[in-house]
Amino acid sequence: MDHAEFRRHAHAFVDWMADYLETVERHPVRAQVKPGEIAERVPLRPPEHGEPMEAIFQDFKTAILPGITHWQHPSFFAYFPANSSPPSVLAEMLTATVGAQCMLWQTSPAATELETRVLDWLRQMIGLPEGFAGVIQDSASSAILCAILTARERATGWRVNDEGVGVGERLTVYCSGETHSATEKDVRIAGLGRRNLRKVPVDDRFAMRADALEATILADKGAGATPICVVASLGTTGVGAVDPLRALGEVCRRQGVWLHVDAAWAGSALVLPEHRWMLDGIEHVDSFVFNPHKWMLTNFDCSAHYVRDPDVLVRTLEILPAFLKTRERGHVIDYRDWSVPLGRRFRALKLWFVIRSYGVEGIRRLIGQHIAWAGELERWIAAQPDFELMAPRSLALVNFRHHPRGVDEPAELDRLNEGLLEALNDSGELYLTQNRVRGAYSIRFSIGQTSTARRHVEAAWARIQTTARALRP
Ligand SMILES: *Cc1c(COP(=O)(O)O)cnc(C)c1O
Repeated sequence: MDHAEFRRHAHAFVDWMADYLETVERHPVRAQVKPGEIAERVPLRPPEHGEPMEAIFQDFKTAILPGITHWQHPSFFAYFPANSSPPSVLAEMLTATVGAQCMLWQTSPAATELETRVLDWLRQMIGLPEGFAGVIQDSASSAILCAILTARERATGWRVNDEGVGVGERLTVYCSGETHSATEKDVRIAGLGRRNLRKVPVDDRFAMRADALEATILADKGAGATPICVVASLGTTGVGAVDPLRALGEVCRRQGVWLHVDAAWAGSALVLPEHRWMLDGIEHVDSFVFNPHKWMLTNFDCSAHYVRDPDVLVRTLEILPAFLKTRERGHVIDYRDWSVPLGRRFRALKLWFVIRSYGVEGIRRLIGQHIAWAGELERWIAAQPDFELMAPRSLALVNFRHHPRGVDEPAELDRLNEGLLEALNDSGELYLTQNRVRGAYSIRFSIGQTSTARRHVEAAWARIQTTARALRP
């Protein structure tokens, strides 16, 4: 493709992109295809000869788009959002065009220096104290892995990196039963063994109990294990529970254990000072992660990872073959030593575009609205006798179920709500996901899409009620 052709197609694509964002509501939120349906439309063999872009683009629209779940749809209330925004998309176009691989300072000084600066903006925006240094990871899972690896090396005097985990050696990690499954996966990847992950009991608001944490750590020490890391959550995925950082941090200090905070979703809400109570005790925290790619208008992927002491992270991950040596080494940051993958995309650019375009105030306003609408939704649910809240609302996340009078058998309630969720998602009008709260099936309603307006929340609630009442056994 020559430059003139590129220009022509790019203009056409931008028109399509703007149309898409303008009319995204016309698509069913969750893709309405069956498994294998999209694969069938793609030939089994690659084309021997190049094809015209018109044909490729046409197939994108007709063969691929029906298999897209529209995360940027304003009635996307499933999982947590992966919200985006026009400034972020514009920046991604530039990032793709310059196509820089930003593993070292030298391989794009601007990428490194902008990343350092913008992550410090972000640190200020969410009220993290000075002294935390930031790096962009591809995901919160990667940041948690970095924390566990660093904790493992610090606790063993950098021995496991050399020798591997010893036979019979038990390095233990702590989280709650509500903690995201990424922690368990990372414990396995770090070679610690799933059995050495302790699920600490929670209180009646689903938050990790500090007394139970300390008792578990002491019991493990007594049995010859080495406790290395606690993963606390601000905003768990199921119900949005907030673990008490101060109480947990004091235990970690006393017991000499690394404290990592997973605020993947809820971290964005810290732009609003009224939610900063969640950070009480942050002085005891060693590392912290949250995802601007969830609830801060920045295209996936962009996970902001903060560490109090970058030296221990770098010492854990650094590896220096001759071909990666540069003369600036030691005077500049080479972010490849801060993460598991070597190669790095220029992710800071989209964050810079988003923060400059919206301003901190604009981001605060959007997130504040989502939380306010979730508060309204919570009241609407509470006011209906045939619905019930399954957990206290957390920020913009509400857990509820349909509970008609006379249906009290747990298995029947589960089935009823499962049927309700499927009927809603099959309608294409909205998209919600499920959860289990104390064993019971619960529907999660998570608000946070960039273009969601109050009317979308209202329409979703109206549809939930009519659908539920029509399904009544
Ligand atoms: C989404 C989420 C994760 C996983 O995030 P990735 O960036 O996809 O790895 C971890 N923890 C919590 C609390 C989450 O909400």
